[in-house]
Amino acid sequence: MLFRYGTDSRGKLVKKAVVYTKSEHLISIDRIDPDALQIINRLRDAGFTAYIVGGAVRDLIVGNTPKDFDIVTDATPSRIKRIFRNSRIIGRRFRLVHVVFGTKIFEVSTFRSNAEGSVGNDFGTIEQDVMRRDFTLNALYYDPLQEQIIDYVGGMRDIKKHILRPVIPMEAIFVEDPVRMLRAIKYSATTHARMSFALRHKIRNSAALLGQVSPSRLTEEMLKIINSGHSAEIISEALDTDLYMYLQPAAAAMIYEKKDVEKSYMENLTKMDELSKTQPDVRLGKKLYFLLYDFVASLTDWKKEVKESVTASELYARTWKECRNFVLPMNPQRRELEFAVKSVLTDLGVSFRQPSAKKQTKNDAEKSTDSVQPAKTKKKSKNKKKKAKNLKDEPKQENA
Ligand code: ATP
Ligand code: MG
Repeated sequence: MLFRYGTDSRGKLVKKAVVYTKSEHLISIDRIDPDALQIINRLRDAGFTAYIVGGAVRDLIVGNTPKDFDIVTDATPSRIKRIFRNSRIIGRRFRLVHVVFGTKIFEVSTFRSNAEGSVGNDFGTIEQDVMRRDFTLNALYYDPLQEQIIDYVGGMRDIKKHILRPVIPMEAIFVEDPVRMLRAIKYSATTHARMSFALRHKIRNSAALLGQVSPSRLTEEMLKIINSGHSAEIISEALDTDLYMYLQPAAAAMIYEKKDVEKSYMENLTKMDELSKTQPDVRLGKKLYFLLYDFVASLTDWKKEVKESVTASELYARTWKECRNFVLPMNPQRRELEFAVKSVLTDLGVSFRQPSAKKQTKNDAEKSTDSVQPAKTKKKSKNKKKKAKNLKDEPKQENA
């Protein structure tokens, strides 16, 4: 174990960070994406420092496969942009750079200062940057050239002890960014890091802060949970800490109202996780199917609907709208939600058959090839209007 020294405010030499060597952290360089290595080498050649930071370092230590490699440097965004032709600056306020290699995108950010708390935008030093990272397990810097991990906050020890500990002071961490509560339960589930009683209590008491977060950020976080392969554990924790009321209000209300729904909803999440694990590239629509199933099944008596000749296209149109509201504030890609709704309806007995080209009426032909076709072509039943109304009258979720 080595140490990194610096000076304190009076100019005295003090230990600033612990440096773990290869024989201690045991990360094999083969596990680092060669393009990430190339980015770091190019930044170093241009005279800057650069490290792999955050999730990838955490995952490599825990033994999980990193899903991406985030890089941090002392080069400013415009300087990074000039070094890499294959890059673009993103974000208007918080500017960082995406370096693109084929289908892979590497996020390269500049050390930020903590002078204005943990959300300001000014550039800073590595010592300031580390103090605005959310949890110690996300605050390790890996230097792939020296094969060393630089640890300013005891993150290595916390990972080994399975502890989730905030870096940012407890009174500021969630007020400054409520999404960190979702991140906390996510890491707790994916790395088996325990939250202290005080942290869990703080999250439960601060849950309402999530109400201020934009739908686009909540969508991003919900999609990460859906794709994590650990959604059952994460969502169970989100229900327990009251966060799910803000992430998926209609689903949370459905679960809180009908106890037996919870079991089935959780079973569906487990199936969704199986799918994510066995087919990592499976389309989102196939996963959304599991989130929607219980809700759609509870909307009406599907056997009766189908028997009484309500057209599939009509059933689909109504159900799609209900589902669109059900998943709010998440706003997934429309075609993925459509795919999921159709799949659930199909499994509930609604038949979506494409008509043969000959039979297509002018009206049908104008619809997209993806459009829903009637399951039966009988005349409208008397009951139909009434049924349509019933379905409409299902309790609507309150928008977050
Ligand atoms: P994953 O990508 O697996 O969800 P990650 O830890 O890499 O996990 P990112 O969102 O990619 O998460 O962020 C990279 C790093 O940036 C984090 O590890 C953390 O150090 C820091 N970070 C990201 N979001 C926040 C936040 N809201 N507050 C504080 N630090 C953050
Ligand atoms: Mg990441």
